[in-house]
Amino acid sequence: MTARIIDGKSIAADLRGKVAEGVHRLGRDQGDVPGLAVVLVGENPASEVYVRSKSKAVAEAGMRPFDHKLPASTGEAELLALVATLNADPAVSGILVQLPLPAQIDTQKVIAAIDPAKDVDGFHPLNVGRLASGLPALVPCTPLGCVMLAKTVHDSLAGMEAVVVGRSNIVGKPVAQLLLAENATVTIAHSKTRDLAGVCRRADVLVAAIGKAEMVRGNWIKPGATVIDVGINRVPGEGGKSRIVGDVAAEARDVAGALTPVPGGVGPMTIACLLLNTLRAAHAQRGLAPPKI
Ligand code: NAP
Repeated sequence: MTARIIDGKSIAADLRGKVAEGVHRLGRDQGDVPGLAVVLVGENPASEVYVRSKSKAVAEAGMRPFDHKLPASTGEAELLALVATLNADPAVSGILVQLPLPAQIDTQKVIAAIDPAKDVDGFHPLNVGRLASGLPALVPCTPLGCVMLAKTVHDSLAGMEAVVVGRSNIVGKPVAQLLLAENATVTIAHSKTRDLAGVCRRADVLVAAIGKAEMVRGNWIKPGATVIDVGINRVPGEGGKSRIVGDVAAEARDVAGALTPVPGGVGPMTIACLLLNTLRAAHAQRGLAPPKI
């Protein structure tokens, strides 16, 4: 069997186009443009690249970008003051504080200070709790993208065995909650799981969010399964250069029914879902029904 490749790039481009249409409709009907504030503290090169592509995508979707770049020496009080200003600014529909933050800043304190209605990363405890309670919530972007990609293969995930490897607050746990909300039968595996290969082999839908290059082997995969590879791992490539691989080994293509490539799978969906969350937040803040996307 050769797996169908789930083209995250084109699915994300399609979603971004729909968000842009939603932004246009909001402007036409309400005379109003959603805005996304992205706050970057310090000079982490990976974060800088990511923040640049976010700002570009925000502008392309017709939203207003509000970028705040603060020095690595920024104190916690200063960052909290900026968050308070953004919370109070009606032009700002969504706030994203890029992680990781420098050591002198308490990350949880900053996340908790963001207005939950503007928490487009879905990391605020109120949104985490609402997701776990099955209530409408702003949900984390990468997990939302994972489930959207799985649903391009299966109209319904109801009753399917879903295995998520990884239990981080950013990916593993929220993706498991979203799969549960889709009525899948969900197992969360992690570094203490016994017989990980056997657990993975049960999965109709396997989500790998581990951060270990090509750890999931072909013989861990149930023939025909849908595999969502969240991993982004830099490994040595040809000519002294490095290349990016996922958490799932290339041989998985011979066993899976469908899988996401790395790069070009989950990655592009993260930014598209951030735009979607910003549009959803803008609608909710105006008392409007969620955008039909
Ligand atoms: P993380 O916080 O490091 O969590 C990794 C999880 O994997 C942990 O729950 C850990 O288990 C589990 N794990 C580690 N080694 C394992 C092993 N040998 N066997 C079983 N489980 C193991 O990482 P993360 O933030 O969730 O990110 C995971 C990956 O996704 C990374 O490669 C990251 O770069 C990537 N990522 C991609 C995107 C995107 O947009 N595509 C977004 C976010 C993250 P324990 O809890 O037991 O330690």
